[in-house]
Amino acid sequence: MMFLARAQSSKICRFCKRAFLGSNPAVYCCLFCAFWDRVAPPNENGCCLWTGNRNFDGYGTFTFGSKRRYVTEVCLQLHGIEVVKGADKMHSCNIRHCVALEHLSQGTHLQNMKYAAQQGRLGGRPNARPLVR
Ligand SMILES: [Zn+2]
Ligand SMILES: [Zn+2]
Repeated sequence: MMFLARAQSSKICRFCKRAFLGSNPAVYCCLFCAFWDRVAPPNENGCCLWTGNRNFDGYGTFTFGSKRRYVTEVCLQLHGIEVVKGADKMHSCNIRHCVALEHLSQGTHLQNMKYAAQQGRLGGRPNARPLVR
């Protein structure tokens, strides 16, 4: 790996504390560190809440370099899961800024609408059955 000497200097990553070469205003050595430093530890529901930026709809967004991306997509990628193009990212916990991998799934828009209907979010009759496992 070649680094341009010009605008880069040796820094300590804010998350993993390793030394890295980066240009201002970089404070993380890699995408992984920049992501996980903004994720809260799991709460009582197992949700790992994104503490960074959120868009108008309440979905977490993440800017690394010059690209702005949805945190759900970044999370799937960091776990080695391929992001399906055009697929909606669903949260089983219904918390849009949750990035717990177990709560995330990908589906088509149709599946998502069905799921929302099952959850009673589309104005239909709420599902009154108790959850039995
Ligand atoms: Zn790091
Ligand atoms: Zn969750």
